[in-house]
Amino acid sequence: MSILSAERHRVPSALSAPDWQSAMQRAIRDSGQLIALLNLPPQMAEAAAGHPFPLFAPLEYLSRIRKGDPRDPLLRQILPVADERQGKPGFLRDPVGDETATLMPGLIQKYEGRALIVLSGHCPVHCRYCFRQHFPYETSAFSGPREKALIAELRELKDVEEVVLSGGDPLTWTDGKLQRLISQIESVPHVRRLRIHSRMPVVIPQRVTPELLSLFGGTRLTTLFVVHINHPQEMDEAVEHALSQLIDAGIPVLNQAVLLRSVNDHAEVLYQLCRRLVNLRVMPYYLHQLDRVAGAAHFEVPINEGKALVQTLRSRLPGYAVPRYVVEEPGAASKTWLG
Ligand SMILES: *Cc1c(COP(=O)(O)O)cnc(C)c1O
Ligand code: SF4
Repeated sequence: MSILSAERHRVPSALSAPDWQSAMQRAIRDSGQLIALLNLPPQMAEAAAGHPFPLFAPLEYLSRIRKGDPRDPLLRQILPVADERQGKPGFLRDPVGDETATLMPGLIQKYEGRALIVLSGHCPVHCRYCFRQHFPYETSAFSGPREKALIAELRELKDVEEVVLSGGDPLTWTDGKLQRLISQIESVPHVRRLRIHSRMPVVIPQRVTPELLSLFGGTRLTTLFVVHINHPQEMDEAVEHALSQLIDAGIPVLNQAVLLRSVNDHAEVLYQLCRRLVNLRVMPYYLHQLDRVAGAAHFEVPINEGKALVQTLRSRLPGYAVPRYVVEEPGAASKTWLG
């Protein structure tokens, strides 16, 4: 199925780009280099030096940033700035209560019927507002030696119909490792669905290979993807191609975005994001109120503003194209709907 449908689409030249692992290796980690590549004022590199959550951005993502524009909305998502070092009361290291909802290292359950595996501490990009930026991946992420115990735990969790692979980004795992884990999850009879939370199709779109598609095509589990796009500028031809390949392979693709100050806190930006998504058959799923994670206070948009933005979207788009505006409250039985 994936081969046939791939032929229906023009293959953009970016697909002849290096494979995804090389793309990870050649990603930019040095702010001076980033600033030079993007023709930005050298002093913008200063705040980034020695940051505990370091700069990490692949060239594929950088190619979508406007050169010479310090206010570019994609740049703002990846470049460490001095504001991050300013503590603010109420902004915490674990704002969503991951720790208390951890059943065993790497396995989190907050909601009925769904369990989440923190697969990897690696990501194809470091998003400055990430709510897991302080997550203790070394001790608390899934790892190979824990696989047996984790699958045994899943067997006990009889209500769990859906396993969410998250992280970090689960698609930083190789196909072989993913295949092995998925077949283990498949062996648990009450698990019916597999959900992949990944930014990979958007950041390094060549990660969506025929091999990856056949991996998801070959499981008895109903597979869904949730990608993470905050701004329409994040979608270029290669990204569109990757998304349509997933969908053509029969995988529903949903999008979650985070409402971010000076990135997407404008009705027109959110409108263009949602309309581009539905034109690509990607369903806007959630618009998240920022999780109040330490270091991200400068990204916060007040909830009243968020509500007004969503109200505007509702007046301009079909109902299915308007994301649910939600916030995560530790201990709640679901994400909390704001509007
Ligand atoms: C957000 C989240 C989910 C998924 O919630 P949905 O509302 O089903 O998208 C599952 N598990 C955890 C731990 C989560 O944080
Ligand atoms: S890709 Fe997701 S998990 Fe990784 S840094 Fe970005 S928001 Fe966080």
